[in-house]
Amino acid sequence: MIRTHGLVKRYGTHAALDGVDLEVPAGSVYGLAGPNGAGKTTLLGILAGLRKATEGEVTVAAETGEVAVLPDTPRFDPWLTGREVVALALTLGSGTHSVTTREDAERVDEVLEQSGLTDAARRRCGGYSRGMLQRLGIASTLVARPSLILLDEPASALDPQGRREVLDLINTLRGHATVLFSSHILGDVQEVCDTVGILHHGRLLFQGPLSDLLVGRAVPRYELRVR
Ligand code: ATP
Repeated sequence: MIRTHGLVKRYGTHAALDGVDLEVPAGSVYGLAGPNGAGKTTLLGILAGLRKATEGEVTVAAETGEVAVLPDTPRFDPWLTGREVVALALTLGSGTHSVTTREDAERVDEVLEQSGLTDAARRRCGGYSRGMLQRLGIASTLVARPSLILLDEPASALDPQGRREVLDLINTLRGHATVLFSSHILGDVQEVCDTVGILHHGRLLFQGPLSDLLVGRAVPRYELRVR
């Protein structure tokens, strides 16, 4: 679904990405793990088209439809209800001003249900917990049925229950979209990903099936927290 070749991103003289060859199989849940400053946000930003690489190539499969991206700290108007946030995401995607069709309204409700937010959907999101806000962010990325979803550290700053709920939600996306999510916690990636990439100082130290990483066929001595 995504392939990069020799991707380099320099900020001044500092190489935040230093020759990354990423390969994200279509339909996979790919976990990009690496400590703070490894270059995860930079890489996701380039894949999303929000930042420009200094060198290298990015190829996204031609059949890829919509690409959705969620930043590490999603921000919403606190006065909007959860349902309004998701409906707005759908209408922004379609270029209309409101959810008008019954089909659209049903899609919004379906995604809220999938994200465990049905009961909270009519409350203002300003009162949501951090975990609920992350799930609301994921619901907003899902609603237009993107084929590629990029999530930047969706579970990292959450308490154990919030983290569990976000990881469970990501698990439900398997088979519906290709998902690439980043984390500085290896445990997050271990729990839900089929394929793992370990990014360190802008380099991919390992990339492949999780099973290869766990049996120690992989290289790395990386500085990740394992829960
Ligand atoms: P974190 O989890 O802390 O966000 P990360 O793995 O997402 O880390 P990046 O945010 O991509 O890493 O940053 C990679 C490196 O590039 C860091 O050293 C960071 O300081 C630097 N960097 C990122 N954005 C910029 C920028 N706009 N200007 C200069 N340096 C930057």
